[in-house]
Amino acid sequence: MKRVAVYPGSFDPMTNGHMEILRRALSVFDEVIILVAVSPTKKSLFSLGERFAMIKEATKELPGVSVDMTEGLSINYAREHGAIALVRGLRAATDFEYEFKMAAGNRFVDPKIDMVFFMSAPAFTFLSSSTIKELFMHGTDISPLVPLAVAEALKKKLNEIKK
Ligand code: ADP
Repeated sequence: MKRVAVYPGSFDPMTNGHMEILRRALSVFDEVIILVAVSPTKKSLFSLGERFAMIKEATKELPGVSVDMTEGLSINYAREHGAIALVRGLRAATDFEYEFKMAAGNRFVDPKIDMVFFMSAPAFTFLSSSTIKELFMHGTDISPLVPLAVAEALKKKLNEIKK
């Protein structure tokens, strides 16, 4: 039986830090579904559809990856799609607190689906979607830190905002 995991997140936008976690998840699971989810606490720059399209483009050459969106709970999505785990990344102690609470909530909903955490590679510990947005909006070339599709989408978004 195929071992399927769901990698949920806001991905607003996807960074090379997310991509690194994805690659490592692919070495453990047969299939990884990247799930673009609505975050109740975060205001997003990109719509769900825009985020979906960027990730689809960035991962098109990675076998075993699919992309989907949800406005519901990731844990419910995982159950409905036969996943055995939810994948998340951990950068620093600050991530731990948040992830710890979320894992407990998910466990309450479905204890059969495990949370699997990958520690960020040292080169990416500083990298977050908000850092990318901040650096980009202040004129920094962020292209070494994100997939090409994201760098292009950011430029397009900036032009739209300027209009
Ligand atoms: P969310 O709003 O659900 O936290 P994010 O897109 O910010 O969504 O992050 C999705 C997951 O990827 C989280 O588990 C986060 O900790 C992880 N992540 C984000 N950036 C990195 C990075 N640079 N290295 C490792 N994990 C990361």
